[in-house]
Amino acid sequence: MSSIVSYEIIGNVGVISVNNPPVNALSQAVREGILNALNQAQSDASEAVLLLCEGRTFIAGADITEFGKPPQPPSLPEVLTAVENSKKLVIAALHGTALGGGFELSLACHYRCAVASAQVGLPEVKLGLLPGAGGTQRVPRLVGVKAALDMLTSGKPIAAEKACDMGLIDEIIPSSDLKADALNYVKDLLDSGAPLKRVRDINIDPSSIEPGFFDNYRKQLSRRARGQIAQDRIVSCVQAAVTMPVDKGLQRERELFMELLTSPESAAMRHIFFAEREASKIKDVAKDTPVREINKVAIIGGGTMGGGIAMCFANVGIPVKLLEIDNEALQRGMGIIRKNYSITVRKGKLNEAQMEDRIKLISGITDYADLADVDQVIEAVFENPGIKKVVFGKLDEVCKPGAILASNTSYQDIDDIASATSRPEDVVGMHFFSPANVMRLLEVVRGEKTSDDVLATVMKLGKKIGKVCALSKVCYGFIGNRMLSGYGREAQMLLLDGCTPVQVDSALEQFGMAMGVIAMGDLAGLDVGYKARHARTDLQKDPKAYRIADSLVESGRLGQKSGAGFYNYDATTRARSSDPEVEELIRSEAEKLGIQPQQFTDEEILQRCFYPLINEGALILEQGIAQRPSDIDVVYVYGYAFPVAKGGPMYWADQIGLKNIYDKVCEFRDKYGEKYWTPAPLLQKLAEEGKTFAQWSRENG
Ligand code: NAD
Repeated sequence: MSSIVSYEIIGNVGVISVNNPPVNALSQAVREGILNALNQAQSDASEAVLLLCEGRTFIAGADITEFGKPPQPPSLPEVLTAVENSKKLVIAALHGTALGGGFELSLACHYRCAVASAQVGLPEVKLGLLPGAGGTQRVPRLVGVKAALDMLTSGKPIAAEKACDMGLIDEIIPSSDLKADALNYVKDLLDSGAPLKRVRDINIDPSSIEPGFFDNYRKQLSRRARGQIAQDRIVSCVQAAVTMPVDKGLQRERELFMELLTSPESAAMRHIFFAEREASKIKDVAKDTPVREINKVAIIGGGTMGGGIAMCFANVGIPVKLLEIDNEALQRGMGIIRKNYSITVRKGKLNEAQMEDRIKLISGITDYADLADVDQVIEAVFENPGIKKVVFGKLDEVCKPGAILASNTSYQDIDDIASATSRPEDVVGMHFFSPANVMRLLEVVRGEKTSDDVLATVMKLGKKIGKVCALSKVCYGFIGNRMLSGYGREAQMLLLDGCTPVQVDSALEQFGMAMGVIAMGDLAGLDVGYKARHARTDLQKDPKAYRIADSLVESGRLGQKSGAGFYNYDATTRARSSDPEVEELIRSEAEKLGIQPQQFTDEEILQRCFYPLINEGALILEQGIAQRPSDIDVVYVYGYAFPVAKGGPMYWADQIGLKNIYDKVCEFRDKYGEKYWTPAPLLQKLAEEGKTFAQWSRENG
């Protein structure tokens, strides 16, 4: 027996133990070990076989490092067939997280027991795949079609007790000693003469499914799946579980799994999976850099962002002090926090008691002296460098040595802010995205003097509060907002060139963006950008690009909050509709500028909107603002809802070919002018060398 899988007989039970740290992934050695042990058990003195894992979890999924490599026997379906066909009972004992292939293996067992803290799930959909080892055939047989589809298409894990209620697990066992408690359960089964129960033998009655059920389910999915095809294929598999004999269903599942495995969508999603893990690693900061202890946090400013950030910490049990300018502002901020939590309670994701516990962790203050004991401060006051510097000057006076002083600024220079303190090494940017308690991205901004341990601490803290962290150096707008400016600008220019807002937004939404950029402006409030533009110097101002947006604001159309912006909004449903008056305004402004309206295809709209992102991304890379192209992808997927099935802008660019993009940028330069379109030198270089950003990244360490 391999050291990764061991087999012993305890009493009358053959016990197979998997020991493949850290998560007992289903590597080739694990599959082979289980198969060998199972074969041995068939002819020894054991009366039943118990399958369990050592360490912190049951098998938590496939070994994804084996993806894309030639498959090594035995395959997982082969192991599952052997388990299912065993003439002795096979019982799985689950603890930790039994996910993906691990959970599918347990579904082939005749019985499943689990400790209450265990979770089960089939998260393949998150990588653009489907469970390819019987999950789509066995889960509906156990829990019914609707519950199976919800589980398979969301990929969300399910807690053991709920899984037991649903029928995915047969028994919850005590958690004092996994092996002993599981053996007791096996003994009970043997004593009661429990039969060999095979999930495959359960039949689903097709007449129990309402006509049109699958079509309706697909329709609902297409709204949230945004360019992902795995959800659709999962529905096909579950449909097969209802309409085909089990072996045919399993074959169908295998075929569709193979289709997804080689699909561009899954490749893009796997890219993001690895990119996300890579992004938190800072190339020149040692992995073992000691981190500072963060037990108490303070947020300065309890507005839109400050309140959301405070919630992030309260959600993981870290006490937060929220400082505002006066009591009135404080009460307003605390009120918004309560309102936001109440929405979560209404959705059933939190109960009242949990809400109160979290709110209790947030204490409002108005006196800077109360910050003396905090380990970490995050400033989220108005986006004004003068005000921010005054705040940092005060923090420098009152905070204890070693406290980390972070700013949530969207654009300002962290080094300038740090210069207001006597400890620039403790100053860092922590750029959250709105709503801060929901959006996953955290841009960590490294100042000139930010120390390594501050960076390491903030990366760890970000992870603790559930964020995906990416590092940026200092520049106007950091990675995300800096790249965004060309995207927003071109969408506006397309209107002047002859597109309607609906046409631009539909092309972007069809591509997979959650919301088109024009509608996004309405959601954020058109006055926000207006104020920012008007605060710029004459040299930076561009009276042409934002002409329409400016006139809308000046006529009181501020976006959703005023009921109208580029679109009109229904007062109750907030549904958007186009407004002929806006279209007329666009036409007349274009005419004043002497622009002849043209026709654009969706592809051209995407090129105009996204190629500036890619071009700016190339500049950001060569300037060393971002560490890697994949970090930029992470920023766009988690901070700006770029479709994960496209893998982020830089990955997408690699798929299109940098030469194609470079040529188009040059064409746009010749047509629309250098002011808007200047190819980044790195884009030109890679296009000429026939390389991708990914290759460049590998070559540059
Ligand atoms: P906001 O206007 O909603 O809130 C700012 C809060 O700071 C107000 O409640 C104000 O009373 C308080 N405040 C001002 N001066 C203060 C001081 N000296 N001491 C204590 N409190 C003070 O603003 P916001 O949208 O939450 O933005 C805050 C910061 O976050 C800005 O730097 C902004 O650029 C950044 N940011 C905003 C967003 C967003 O989408 N709103 C996203 C990312 C980052």
